[in-house]
Amino acid sequence: MLASIADFFLPPTCHLCGCRLLDSERVFCVRCIETLPRSRYHLMPMNPMERRFAGIVPFVRATGHFIYSRNSDLASAIHDMKYRQFPSVGHRLGEIVGEELNMAGFFFGADCIAAVPMHWWKKAKRGYNQADYIAAGLSCATGLPISNELVASRAHKTQTAMTLQQRLENLSGSFRVKDPDALKGKGLVLVDDVCTTGSTLRSLAEEIASAVPDCRIYLLSLCVTV
Ligand SMILES: [Zn+2]
Repeated sequence: MLASIADFFLPPTCHLCGCRLLDSERVFCVRCIETLPRSRYHLMPMNPMERRFAGIVPFVRATGHFIYSRNSDLASAIHDMKYRQFPSVGHRLGEIVGEELNMAGFFFGADCIAAVPMHWWKKAKRGYNQADYIAAGLSCATGLPISNELVASRAHKTQTAMTLQQRLENLSGSFRVKDPDALKGKGLVLVDDVCTTGSTLRSLAEEIASAVPDCRIYLLSLCVTV
């Protein structure tokens, strides 16, 4: 009842266009969701994300669902999700991606989902790891459980201005699998927010492949740059 009273005085609005949301809508209105730029990579054989990782790390499937470009509506939503305390944006986008990829069979053979882990100190400063929210949205849409076996064991510097090689060196030794036996023989969906050079997913997948050689890895980024 309190929620209904709050909605009456402060009706929920679309995070992108500001229009009043219908009862059936959450975070974004249907029109804004429809206009988000999709890559449709999951429908292509050997798509650009898969080409990026082929021969470097073992994976079953790889995709980046939305095309990220600077100054776009999507970029501002991602910025809010990461830096302006709107993790619900990540959860909703995760749900949308989960629904669309699930319908296309992307998760066939997958057993669980894990977000790219954030070092505890960075998470304490930010208050949350946005990738956890994306993973939770994906989990809601697909029914796949969340795995908490991955940890960021070492803090690393901000990578924005680095080359791929510098990023890989910066990330070296950053991730660890807590209990490799828990992922033995499992299909694990790794979830990141934005894939630019692919260095984060690559470093994490390399660590998993070395700790759990028979883990089947799916690489999934909410957004991808082209
Ligand atoms: Zn809208």
